[in-house]
Amino acid sequence: MSQRTSRISGFHKLSRDERLAAIQAVAGVDDATLEVLKASSALPFELLDRLVENAIGGFTVPVGVATNMIVDGRDLLIPMATEESSVIAAISNTARQCRDTGGFFTSISGTEMIAQIQLVKLSDPWAGRAKVLEKKAEIAQICDGCDPLLVKLGGGFRDLEVRIIDGRFGPMVVVHIIIDTKDAMGANSVNTMAETLAPSLAAWTGGRHHLRILSNLADRRLARARAVWRKEAIGGAEVVEGIVLAADFADHDPYRAATHNKGIMNGVSALTLASGNDTRAIEAGAHAFAARSGRYSSLSRFEITAEGDVAGSIELPMALGIVGGATKVHPTAQACLKILGVTNAAELSRIAAAVGLAQNFGALKALATVGIQQGHMTLHAQNVAITAGAVGDEIAELARRLAEGRAVRQDVAEAILAEIRAKK
Ligand code: NAD
Repeated sequence: MSQRTSRISGFHKLSRDERLAAIQAVAGVDDATLEVLKASSALPFELLDRLVENAIGGFTVPVGVATNMIVDGRDLLIPMATEESSVIAAISNTARQCRDTGGFFTSISGTEMIAQIQLVKLSDPWAGRAKVLEKKAEIAQICDGCDPLLVKLGGGFRDLEVRIIDGRFGPMVVVHIIIDTKDAMGANSVNTMAETLAPSLAAWTGGRHHLRILSNLADRRLARARAVWRKEAIGGAEVVEGIVLAADFADHDPYRAATHNKGIMNGVSALTLASGNDTRAIEAGAHAFAARSGRYSSLSRFEITAEGDVAGSIELPMALGIVGGATKVHPTAQACLKILGVTNAAELSRIAAAVGLAQNFGALKALATVGIQQGHMTLHAQNVAITAGAVGDEIAELARRLAEGRAVRQDVAEAILAEIRAKK
């Protein structure tokens, strides 16, 4: 019997084989499980070990390419990393259906990040606020001094905001430094600036500095996209009406909006991951932005144009980088960025907004017409077939029969698999 304790002293100092042996001793897994982990990544283990702590392997997520996208007049192939079936097919399909109207048109509000410094225990918070605002030039100097390379590249300190928030323990002064991080997502850069600046803020105001961290509500990096789908290209006026009715539901109900926005993020997060960016940062920003009015709502809008077509538009925070984090060190991210052919972070962010809109339109159209399951069924059926134990040729036959029967369930799959095998 293995001794089940997770207290493994110095685990991080062990080699990969030693870590796996330690895991085996604790979790009691067999040798075959360790072999799966050893063979789990084509990337050199040294890289995995540099990217995260206590690495033992990799986790391969498929990368596919969505076709047919035109963004701002440019034909693009969109690399997407996702484990979910139907996402890439949906984008390729909806992107094809708006090619005749020019595809997607995009813009971005900027590449500025916000970092927050929380000041507490101030006797006179309003006076403290005024004192901080007086020091703008000095604050700019301190922030820019932290990242001379960023300043050389045209980025750096841009602005200052000071808010007073009434908390449970009294008022707090919250200083926002606004930093143009150019082609980087910028978390590390702005966090360093916030930490460096905090003691000066505390000294000037007589308060105590507490948290010093970026905000993922990156509302100074708003990416937007729009597109028009002609009614003839999508099945007629009834489909058009179905789509705007479906979108209206998301605008007015958070239960629906959560799923509606999840569909958007199916596209955005897949491109975010493929480009080596931080999916959690992008997700957090999107959902916080969707709730900015105080009620969680949809990130996109769908309207009927004067011609009776569908005009879709989207706006959401998009703090993506093409340098920094894993973007430069992960070879697959580099390969994906090459396929996409982007030269700066703003361009990547604008494309991501277009991808989100395309994905959203695809899901809405399916929901408003045949339902989502028809498109999902084939690939889902294959997954269920494999889970039921099908191998080789059995997989395709079992998946086909499952999809035809419309009961894509493990128990049904096992029964059909037994039938297939009995006939062999
Ligand atoms: P980074 O620090 O690795 O790279 C940014 C630096 O690259 C800049 O400071 C600059 O000096 C340099 N640089 C070189 N060329 C540049 C260019 N063209 N434009 C801009 N800068 C250029 O990375 P980062 O973007 O500061 O941080 C991203 C990482 O931080 C991600 O891995 C993310 O997961 C992580 N992170 C996220 C959070 C969060 O989202 N809450 C918090 C902490 C860390």
